[in-house]
Parts: sequence; C-alpha cells; structure tokens
Amino acid sequence: MTDAAPSDTPEMPFRRAGRSGLDLPEISLGLWQNFGEANALETQRAIVLRAVERGVTQLDLANNYGPPPFAAETSLGDILRRDLRGRRDELVLTTKAGYRAWPGPYGDGGSRKYLLSSLDRSLRCLGVDAVDVFYSHRYDPTTPLTETIGALETAWRTGRAHYVGISSYSATRTREALAVAADLGVPLTVHQSSYSMLNRWIEEPDDSGESVLQVADDAGMGMVAFSPLAQGMLTSKYLDGVPEDSRAARSGPLRPEYLSDENLARVRALAAVAEARGTTLARLALAWTLRDPRVTTVLIGARTVDQLDDSLAALAEPELSRDELDAIDAQQGDTGINLWASRSSD
Ligand code: NAP
Repeated sequence: MTDAAPSDTPEMPFRRAGRSGLDLPEISLGLWQNFGEANALETQRAIVLRAVERGVTQLDLANNYGPPPFAAETSLGDILRRDLRGRRDELVLTTKAGYRAWPGPYGDGGSRKYLLSSLDRSLRCLGVDAVDVFYSHRYDPTTPLTETIGALETAWRTGRAHYVGISSYSATRTREALAVAADLGVPLTVHQSSYSMLNRWIEEPDDSGESVLQVADDAGMGMVAFSPLAQGMLTSKYLDGVPEDSRAARSGPLRPEYLSDENLARVRALAAVAEARGTTLARLALAWTLRDPRVTTVLIGARTVDQLDDSLAALAEPELSRDELDAIDAQQGDTGINLWASRSSD
C-alpha cells in the first residue's frame, strides 16, 4: 500500500445521498481519463490506493472508460484482486452504460439489450457480483424511457446493482424517468451531472421551469457532481498556455475552443478569488461545488497522486463568504464547455 495520509489531512466527511440510506464521501474519484491501456498501470494503482487510503470510498466507472472501452474496469478489477482483496464491501463501485462501448446496434444507447449486456460485462471485468450503483449514462431519445428505466429496475431487482441512477438527464427527462421508476417501484437514488463554477447548467430551469438540482432534490435523489474542476480548466495550468502533459494537449474531451480568451479571463478572475483567500483555484472550485448541501459528492479526476492529494486538501477549506460567492457568481455566463448538454434531452 502507499504511504499513510499526511497528518494535517482532515478525515473524509460523508454525506447522505438524498433520502436514501447511502453515505458517499464528499470527494469521490472517477476513472474516466488516465485509466486507459496507454496509462502506466503502476500510476493507476498508486492513485486508486492513495484514494482508498484517504477515505475516498466511491470509485466511479463506466463501460466506455479507457480507451479502449472496459479498460478502466479491467484495471480496477486487477487492483481489487491484487491490492484490495477482502475490502470490496468498504467501497462504493459505480458504473454506467449509454455511450458507444462496442460496434453495432447493441453497443450504444438506452436499450434493455445494451444496458444489461454491458452491466454483465462490467461485472466480469471488475470481478465482482454486483456494483453499488448502475446508471443510464445518458438520455436516449430513440428508446422508450420505460425500456431504459426498466433495464435499471431489472439490474436492481436481480441484485446486480444495489442502487440505480441516471446521468446527464435534463430536468424534464429526469421528471419523466422518475415517473416511470415510481410506476416500476424502483428508486432512482442518484443523479450524476456535470457541475462547476464554469458550468452551472443544473441550476438553470429548462422549458419545464425547473432545474435538475430542484427536481432531483424534490425526489430525494443525491446529486453526484462530475468534472468540478471543469476537466482541469479550474486550476492555474492553462493561464500561461497549454502544458504538454495536460488534458488539453491530448486530443480529447477538453476541446481547444473551451480555452477561449473569454473563458481564460473568467479563470483568471476566479484564480484571484482563490489567491485572496490564500488557497488554490482547484481547492476553491471543489469547496464551491460542495457549498450546496444538495450536492452529495464531487467526482474528481486525477492524473497523478500529487493532484489527488492537492484536490483532497479542499476538504479543509473554510466556508465561502458572501463576497466570495458574489465574485464567483459574477463570472457566470455561457462558457460553452458543457460537453454533455446535447445528450441530456432530445
Ligand atoms: P475534473 O476533476 O474536473 O478534472 C480532472 C483533471 O484535472 C485531471 O485529470 C487533471 O488533468 C486535472 N487536475 C486534477 N486535479 C488537479 C490539480 N489538483 N491540479 C492541477 N490539475 C488537476 O474531473 P474529470 O476528470 O473531468 O471527471 C471526473 C470524473 O467524473 C470522471 O472520471 C468520471 O468518473 C466522471 N464523469 C462522468 C461523466 C458522465 O457522463 N456521467 C462525464 C465526465 C466525467 P491533466 O491531465 O490536465 O493534469
């Protein structure tokens, strides 16, 4: 195992996911990026073991995390077997299906065929009998919601998933999914959505007049906020260009257009708020996302153990003042970085 946590590290606080019985750590680790076949296994292992040691009990996966698909789950399965034997029940393992994972009509979307085949493959890769949460990764306008949510219900009733949830569904689609789930008698326990100081879409009402945060909270769902660092934009790394080892330098989900002059001006203004407070932008970003009690956990990514430790230090941040919150609100606007918006509704 890795070294013990630094002595000044606060213990991991837990929050209850909505009105369920499930406690989640305030900071959870996601294996979307940095856990593909091209990433060194020893680094992946060091990051996961450090996280677990520091109380990060929730590890978030999806069938398509890699590349290639299932690589992150295979890697974590290996770490569970080699290093965390006997500790499965101390962890919350989550996975999803909804985006392309294999060729052909059965490897994408929201069909029963795809969701349940994918879940079974995820269980095999992870080497576990059940995941703790299985999500519909996105709304699929071509499949009836009764079928998609019905597949979640089957996963839940057959014990392959202890809880189920939805990810990136708009407020309207969330209401619809909740109605179907209520008919089927299955609780939708968590909603996973992008949320950060630069991407506040879940606060904004859609055509129904309600926001995702509101709908999820009314229904007693826990909110799992992903990409709270806006994929790394909410750190100081892009203020003087694009570092070679950064996500933006690899052609991937952090698109070059996200680093527009306008967005970088926002990041600079937010970095000034952090500096005035005597902290880093990353820690400010995480503390801000966690300021709302409706948010159960923030789901971070880390490429190195140092990044993980740096982000975990956000747990020691004092509450944000009214002036600081106002200064952060002043940087709201259409940043165009919500990569997932187009998959949330029609
Ligand atoms: P993020 O925390 O916003 O960004 C993580 C990236 O920021 C790191 O890979 C690293 O990138 C950089 N970074 C992290 N900590 C840093 C630090 N302290 N200082 C400087 N740079 C730092 O989160 P994310 O990776 O975009 O997403 C997190 C998780 O959310 C995913 O793994 C996944 O589990 C989940 N997620 C879910 C969905 C969904 O559709 N449900 C979609 C996306 C993500 P560099 O390589 O640039 O250093």
